[in-house]
Amino acid sequence: MDILELRPVAEELFSKVRELSHDGVGVTRASYGEGESATASFLRDFALKHGLEVSADRAANLLFRLPDTCGEGQAVWCGSHLDSVPQGGNYDGLAGVIAGLFCLLAQKQSGTASRIPLQVIGFRGEESAWFGKAYMGSGALFGLLDADDLALEQRDSGESLASCMHNAGAEIEAISRQEALFDPLRVRAFLELHIEQGPVMVARKLPLAVVSGIRGNVRHNSIQCLGAAGHSGAVPRWLRRDAMFAVADLIMRLDEHWSVLLERGTDLVVTTGMVSTNTAEHAVSRIPSQVRFSFEVRSKSIDTLEAFYQLMRAECTAISRERQVRFEFDRRLLSKPATMDGQLCDLLSKVCTRQGTTFEVIASGAGHDASLFANAGIPSGMLFIRNQNGSHNPEEAMEMDDFMLGVQVLHETIRELS
Ligand SMILES: [Zn+2]
Repeated sequence: MDILELRPVAEELFSKVRELSHDGVGVTRASYGEGESATASFLRDFALKHGLEVSADRAANLLFRLPDTCGEGQAVWCGSHLDSVPQGGNYDGLAGVIAGLFCLLAQKQSGTASRIPLQVIGFRGEESAWFGKAYMGSGALFGLLDADDLALEQRDSGESLASCMHNAGAEIEAISRQEALFDPLRVRAFLELHIEQGPVMVARKLPLAVVSGIRGNVRHNSIQCLGAAGHSGAVPRWLRRDAMFAVADLIMRLDEHWSVLLERGTDLVVTTGMVSTNTAEHAVSRIPSQVRFSFEVRSKSIDTLEAFYQLMRAECTAISRERQVRFEFDRRLLSKPATMDGQLCDLLSKVCTRQGTTFEVIASGAGHDASLFANAGIPSGMLFIRNQNGSHNPEEAMEMDDFMLGVQVLHETIRELS
């Protein structure tokens, strides 16, 4: 069977999953929540109907394989995540899981057993939007979730991550002992197909791209700046302890450092995605005493991440002194940058060239489960599919032609590996 014949099936799968997780605006597949579970059970039924074997791993991720394969020996792993951000797009994560399923279907149709079997994984809990922490499903597999992580609360329900994972079927005792839940030596290679979440491939007219590495990040979900409340008309500038001006000053200082570092060729992006005064007491005529904000810096270089983080802390200290305010930090979260395997990048590139596709090798600004595999020493590779209108929003728009081209490259690459 030519794998391109699966195109109508792809259209149907994407539209059915969109339907079952539609929230009126975009799709919502909460980590360990309703939309994610509905997506998992829909894909399980689809796979079973097509003669694949389906099971859950010890962290409640979904595993697909051909019947009676993936026993004791090595397997090639491929997959992506099942969850989405609130009111997100339909292709983030889902594209990679469906692509993996298609590779299994193509192998099944061809009827020739490969030397190294393929295991497709649908991760739960990749998005940080729900618990303030990314890579929960893959992190649990590697024994990377600590007690603080497991105590994190779901943004809407307040239920702990431990309880949500447990309800989804994960072995929470083993996870809380930070045991590795699988043997990494049995993974011959990890491959992830994913939509590009930035504007680069559309601008450069590239249907596909091979990913060289994944930016890491350092975050605080919540930093508090504390000053003193006062009457906006009555307190002169020199006596103010205005938390909002202090935070604005900090952000502008960081922007200046960022722009200087960019001129020097440093890979860096800086974001404060959430800023708020205390709604219970804020007023037009009140000097804000309390401002809460998030901090995130991303880079391909761990040294750059550390250096910029220290710079941010030093500026907070300086501003505290100059403006008579105080900064309080919640737990610092680090996701390490990752480098994709050189040989896998070459192989993916070779297959793209053979298919006659224009492509480039680019870095990923967004984080992916593949980074955990790469940082555990497992040869890992990623293939990006062009996607219009960015990601983490309902306007994500991947062309089905681009997707099928990517599936073809993934399938060929897996064939060469096994
Ligand atoms: Zn994603």
